[in-house]
Amino acid sequence: MADTIFSKIISREIPANILFEDDQALAFADVNPQAPTHFLVIPKKPIPKLSDATREDQALLGHLLLVANNVAAEQGLTDFRLNVNNGAGASQTVFHLHIHVLGGRPFSWPPG
Ligand code: 5GP
Repeated sequence: MADTIFSKIISREIPANILFEDDQALAFADVNPQAPTHFLVIPKKPIPKLSDATREDQALLGHLLLVANNVAAEQGLTDFRLNVNNGAGASQTVFHLHIHVLGGRPFSWPPG
């Protein structure tokens, strides 16, 4: 898999406002926030997009959700939205799996 901007954030080649890190995952503030709180949760494993995940990634995917939950709580969020863009047609621009976590404003449903 080609290096992405997110693998460079993992390796600290480029800076980011890192909110959480462990051996499997990283959470950092989105550089172009779409809500008062907007951060991304990524696996350190370079999975390009959700549909590339396999059964062996099951525990990792669950871990990412719990990281999203824990960091949202640390950020003082009670109501928040998770979003995963899968593929260019769904507005994915960085091909390293990431969960958007957005909060601090109301969200409508269905999304645009
Ligand atoms: P996507 O459209 O792929 O689902 O979302 C990619 C997200 O990554 C966008 O919200 C964009 O603002 C964010 N992003 C892109 N480049 C950088 C960067 O260099 N640093 C940070 N922190 N976020 C980035």
